[in-house]
Amino acid sequence: MKIAILGAMPEEVEPLLEKLDDISRVDYADNRYYKAKYKGVEVVVAYSKIGCAFSTLTATILIEHFGCDTLLFSGVAGAINEDFKIGDLIYASKLCKHDLDITAFGHPAGFVPEGKVFIYPDSNLVEVAKSVANSKGIELKEGVVATGDQFISSQEKKEQIKETFNADAIEMEGYSVALVCDALNVPFFILRAISDSADMDASFDFDAFLEKSAKVSADFVLEMVEKLG
Ligand code: SAH
Repeated sequence: MKIAILGAMPEEVEPLLEKLDDISRVDYADNRYYKAKYKGVEVVVAYSKIGCAFSTLTATILIEHFGCDTLLFSGVAGAINEDFKIGDLIYASKLCKHDLDITAFGHPAGFVPEGKVFIYPDSNLVEVAKSVANSKGIELKEGVVATGDQFISSQEKKEQIKETFNADAIEMEGYSVALVCDALNVPFFILRAISDSADMDASFDFDAFLEKSAKVSADFVLEMVEKLG
C-alpha cells in the first residue's frame, strides 16, 4: 500500500510533514513531492497549489508517476451549511463542480456529456474515517462538497450554489482530485476542516483560521493512515 496525501497549500501539508519519518524530497513536473513513512506505512505527500488545474495535475502524478494506490486529501473549506462551524471536520459524501456550466445547451448545472455531476468517495475509506472518529471521540460531519475555481465570499453566491447542488461546503480542488481517482480506479477520500463561512467575512476568517483548521484535518488523516496500514 502506498498512500498519497494531498493538500492544496503549504499550510495544509506542513502539519503532516512534521510527523513523518524517512522523508525524501523529489522534484517532479514543477512541484515538490515528499516520499516518507508514517508508522511504517509508505506515503507520498504534496501540495498541489490552489485550484482545479493544479490539483488535477498533482493527483495524476501521485498515482501515475509515484504509484500511489489510495489518495487522501487534507485541507480546509468554506461552510455553506449553517450547521458547519469554523474548525468542524467534514468529509465529502459526494463532490460536484459548481462552476462547470453549459446549461445554455439544456444540460444540468455541473454536467458535461460523458461526465458526472457527482463523484462519490470510496465507501471503505468512509468506514475507516468513521471508525477513527468513533475510537478517538472526534466529531466527523459529512456533506456535499462543491468545487470551483473561485474563493467564495458572498452570501448570494453561496446561496446559489446551495440551491443548485444542495452543497454543504465549498472549496477549490476536491472534484478535480475525485475525477482523477475515479477515472483511474484509485480509492479516494476528501477531508476538510472549516476555515470560513464563505460570506463577506470569509477572507478574514480564512487568514485567521487556516493554520488551526488545516492541522485538525492533517491530524485526522494521519490517524486514517495508521488504521489503513
Ligand atoms: N489565502 C490564499 C488563497 C486561499 S484560496 C493565498 O492568498 O494564497 C482558498 C483555499 O482554501 C483553496 O485551496 C480552497 O480549496 C479552500 N477554501 C477555503 N474556503 C474557501 C471558500 N470560501 N471558497 C473557496 N475555497 C475555499
